Amino acid sequence: MPAPTPRPGIMDIIAYKPGSARSTASRIYKLSSNESALGPSPKAIEAFKAAANDLHIYPDAGASALREAVAAEFSINPDLVVAGAGSDEILILLMRGYLGPGDSMVMSRHGFAIYAIATTGCGAEVIRADEQNLTTHVDNLLAAVKPNTKMMMLANPNNPTGTLLSGAELRRLRAELRDDILLVLDAAYAEYVEADDYEDGIGMVSAAIQSGANNVFTTRTFSKLYGLGGLRVGWGYGPEPVIAVLNRLRGPFNVSAPAQAAGASALADKEFVARHLAHNKAERARLFEALQELGFHPIPSHTNFLLVGMKGDEPQSRAAMAEALNAHLTQQGTIVRPVKEYFLPDYLRMSVGSVEANSALIEALRCFT
Ligand SMILES: *Cc1c(COP(=O)(O)O)cnc(C)c1O
Repeated sequence: MPAPTPRPGIMDIIAYKPGSARSTASRIYKLSSNESALGPSPKAIEAFKAAANDLHIYPDAGASALREAVAAEFSINPDLVVAGAGSDEILILLMRGYLGPGDSMVMSRHGFAIYAIATTGCGAEVIRADEQNLTTHVDNLLAAVKPNTKMMMLANPNNPTGTLLSGAELRRLRAELRDDILLVLDAAYAEYVEADDYEDGIGMVSAAIQSGANNVFTTRTFSKLYGLGGLRVGWGYGPEPVIAVLNRLRGPFNVSAPAQAAGASALADKEFVARHLAHNKAERARLFEALQELGFHPIPSHTNFLLVGMKGDEPQSRAAMAEALNAHLTQQGTIVRPVKEYFLPDYLRMSVGSVEANSALIEALRCFT
């Protein structure tokens, strides 16, 4: 019987594998998706609850209040901000807008999974540039560009490595990259960065616009620092022609009313943000030290997670240890993230959790033999 067939390439996609939440332990700590260690912002919870009585009303299609709150916070033009059901939606729409069969997208070897998934979904080619010390390498990215390259996707800091590209290097990348290639800076972890020379994307977008260039775009999320991963809300900022593309491709009501309200309230909850950042810094350091003490190789991180290298000289034995440790931690109720599909079979990614969760993780690491 003839059957409907998807477009070529769709079935070649290896579907995104979310961080697991499954264990048979009685007490489970999910440290597999870099979610907020302190839950959602209390102000966001209030706004979410207040939205409950109006669930029958369609959301504001322009997400005006949320976009204006974002624009005020970062001193940018609200007309150049677009809201999305998570920043993932915006990233996927960008690729749908700029990539098709015959085009290519360049990313870093250990870059975020969604870039490759969505690019393949558009029928375009994924090109990966090698990294150095698990860090994005500008010259490799530039060398990977082909005549048909339309986009470059970069998470800074990157997930799952947690490493950072300096502002100077990022500016050099844009300066040496062909002008007709859209550079997308995914700044999902921007709020955690304390480095002096950091470009969070916003400044680069503003500078590009000022100089008449329409080739830099940046995205942010409420899923990590603000603790709203379950609600799906993020935003992007970029030049008007790119915003115009996104507004044509997105669903008219792509961000739900409770998500818009909670996002704006979370942004205003400075007390929560400060508490969360202080917690993350202290607990990340505690986890880092404990891991080192036990002989593991955590990578210094600019985010709310740690990429952790296994012990041993042989890649094979390290990869075997990653599998065994993952099974052990899951069995103990502390769920972390294997990163095989990121070409890092001998590493595990561990989110910085609550004090209780991190203590449970350290305890479980100690009894791994
Ligand atoms: C978590 C994450 C996102 C997307 O988060 P949303 O929940 O879709 O906003 C995007 N990029 C990176 C690098 C991430 O880690």
